[in-house]
Amino acid sequence: MYRELGISEEVLVFGQEIESKLTERFAEIDRVAEYNQLKVIRAMQECRVSESCFNYASGYGYNDQGRDTLEEVYAKTFHTEAALVRPQITCGTHALALALSANLRPGDELLSPVGKPYDTLEEVIGIRASKGSLTEYGITYRQVDLLEDGTFDYENIKKAICEKTKMITIQRSKGYQTRPSFSVTQIGELIAFVKSIKPDVICMVDNCYGEFVETIEPSDVGADMVVGSLIKNPGGGLAPIGGYIVGTEACIENCAYRLTSPGLGKEVGASLGVMQSFYQGFFLAPTVVAGALKGAIFAANIYESLGFSVIPNSTESRHDIIQAVTFGTPEGVISFCKGIQAAAPVDSFVSPEPWSMPGYDSEVIMAAGAFVQGSSIELSADGPIKPPYAVYFQGGLTWTHAKFGILRSLEELVQKGLVKLSK
Ligand SMILES: *Cc1c(COP(=O)(O)O)cnc(C)c1O
Repeated sequence: MYRELGISEEVLVFGQEIESKLTERFAEIDRVAEYNQLKVIRAMQECRVSESCFNYASGYGYNDQGRDTLEEVYAKTFHTEAALVRPQITCGTHALALALSANLRPGDELLSPVGKPYDTLEEVIGIRASKGSLTEYGITYRQVDLLEDGTFDYENIKKAICEKTKMITIQRSKGYQTRPSFSVTQIGELIAFVKSIKPDVICMVDNCYGEFVETIEPSDVGADMVVGSLIKNPGGGLAPIGGYIVGTEACIENCAYRLTSPGLGKEVGASLGVMQSFYQGFFLAPTVVAGALKGAIFAANIYESLGFSVIPNSTESRHDIIQAVTFGTPEGVISFCKGIQAAAPVDSFVSPEPWSMPGYDSEVIMAAGAFVQGSSIELSADGPIKPPYAVYFQGGLTWTHAKFGILRSLEELVQKGLVKLSK
């Protein structure tokens, strides 16, 4: 089958040799997935999820049982008092913007003790001037960068916390930066430090790409709010839209009033028939994340052994599903993305090309053949066409597909003469 799908004998053998060395690693990933699978099932059982939770609700959505029960399931899984999980939260950025704007008031200050946040949050916060930003509402922002070695700058964090500091935001995943992603334990240490200085600071974690990678989540180590996107890990590839916020009753209540309206809060917001995909996606998420992680580790091992720089490296522990590979040439980035596209179940026949996207200062190439538009729990890759010519890739709904995509990318590089497999 691999031959029929365009994988040469030499690439297949090379991949199999790499894979055979990863048995122990993969077994550990399976153990985490097993634990998380049981965690989700237990939450669903305790919340008495039933067939009627999948019923279509329309209009105001009063007493939408499926929606309300799903929020209980999320709260139980993340060990929080409350949750807001809605198709009306359009994406991860929206969920984060909601959590921030709902819990900050004019005169408050937001602190990021982990350096620059994700690109799209710059406009939410007002780091880049933007209509409707927190800055326009009189909310100030402060940032403490990480130390050279990627660890927290405790001394300056302490100095930055002041009378006005109402909330801190911690991004778990590196996103498209080269810093390391943080483990849940590291995040817990940072939260404990901040709370030892100012106990009533609200600690929010941007959990995008991190869900189910470990057996604990940031809410297990003191986070007051944990936020993410349903077209990433927790949607399991089935959720067609959505975002979630889990956390304390007080924070989530604020979020609900901000999402809908003061006075209405969680009571309105019909689920419009998406509930089955939300439940089933959440149920599948632990194993989907395991497949994506195996793909990331497989790719790290393949490309590291060929002499390319990879972040995280081939042996590092994982705290999110993103893998970066630095090819050093535009052709490398382009070939890799073409290979990922060619391995997709959807749109495999199109060829991605670099283009000037709004908001970026260079051309960008993106590969995705997804069932849900823009879903990055599905196998996807993108890279800006500028030095150091790195590609970021993530996802894969099954390990088999992730493996095929990576082999297909390698095939592309071999055929272009960018990589030689001779030992
Ligand atoms: C993807 C992502 C976001 C934004 O999510 P969108 O759904 O793309 O709006 C925010 N933070 C991090 C770390 C992300 O990976």
